[in-house]
Amino acid sequence: MTLAVIVVRDGVLPLGADETVAEAGGAAVLVGTGVKEAAGELPSLSAGSLAENGTFAPGRWARQLARVLDAARILLPASPDGRDLAPRLAAELGRPLLAGAIRVTEQGAEVARWGGRVCVDLIADGPFVATLQPGVRGSAPAQETILQEIELPEVEAPDVTVVEVLDPEAGTVDLAEAPRIFGAGAGLGDAAAVELLGKVANAMGASLGATRVVTDAGWTGYQRQIGTTGVVVHPELYVAFGISGAAQHLGGLGDPAHIVSVNTDPSCPMTAMADLGIVADAPAVLAELARILEVR
Ligand SMILES: Cc1cc2nc3c(=O)[nH]c(=O)nc-3n(C[C@H](O)[C@H](O)[C@H](O)COP(=O)(O)OP(=O)(O)OC[C@H]3O[C@@H](n4cnc5c(N)ncnc54)[C@H](O)[C@@H]3O)c2cc1C
Repeated sequence: MTLAVIVVRDGVLPLGADETVAEAGGAAVLVGTGVKEAAGELPSLSAGSLAENGTFAPGRWARQLARVLDAARILLPASPDGRDLAPRLAAELGRPLLAGAIRVTEQGAEVARWGGRVCVDLIADGPFVATLQPGVRGSAPAQETILQEIELPEVEAPDVTVVEVLDPEAGTVDLAEAPRIFGAGAGLGDAAAVELLGKVANAMGASLGATRVVTDAGWTGYQRQIGTTGVVVHPELYVAFGISGAAQHLGGLGDPAHIVSVNTDPSCPMTAMADLGIVADAPAVLAELARILEVR
């Protein structure tokens, strides 16, 4: 049996929660605060166990969950909390952790490595814990949903002390979770312009993304690459600077509510699909934005 474990904070689900539940065939334990409210936001959920369990404490939760979970395959979204809890849960259960899966099989998982360039089949010798990359599969609504409330056992466990939860910095937030992204394309011309775009994006509460041409040129790191061989993103706003809009790039773009394209070519696919197309020199537009925002 496969079972999803979903961490809920104040009724808010992590990115990739519904996909993880779908990959687990609809069975999930929701643990945290506001779990009942969160269950209503999971269309794929068919059999949900709801554990209202206080503030996120990965050490204690791992020990509590390990006492009650016996599913052969336990799957968490590769969200920040999921990546925090999964290895501790695997250790408590004495199981291997298959991190960053794009698909789970009976025996193990297919995982993406080398920035998504290589897919590797990992075979676990028995039960395992895995994390599922957000954005790699769809989900379908369950025909019916059965929910039950459960209580996790009290345990003693060493744990982290949460002093304060800070909002993520736009420039360093996990790209897959960024609500606003400024994308750097070959039309920006050089590494300095890409670096400046990152600063301008940060000043406007957005994250830096890039095309493969830009990452292959070494103008920014591969972790910023959006596309079929990069990160799959789901921003509300995407501002593309000098990006042609190749299928392999658009394949990772999700369905942004708003797209702006700055490009000298008014008929390139990126501008054609944009809500606002700015036909102009991208480095010049960027320099003007930096001047207005006093970014150097
Ligand atoms: C197997 C495979 C996997 C791939 N995976 C990915 C992937 O994951 N992600 C990805 O992004 N790509 C991927 N690619 C590459 C992809 O096919 C494109 O080559 C790439 O996305 C193009 O990047 P670009 O838009 O920056 O460059 P280009 O296609 O070269 O476009 C540059 C754009 O800049 C514009 N421009 C030029 N000068 C200016 C200026 N001064 N001001 C404004 N605009 C200007 C041009 O009009 C053009 O539209 C993959 C390719 C293959 C074969």
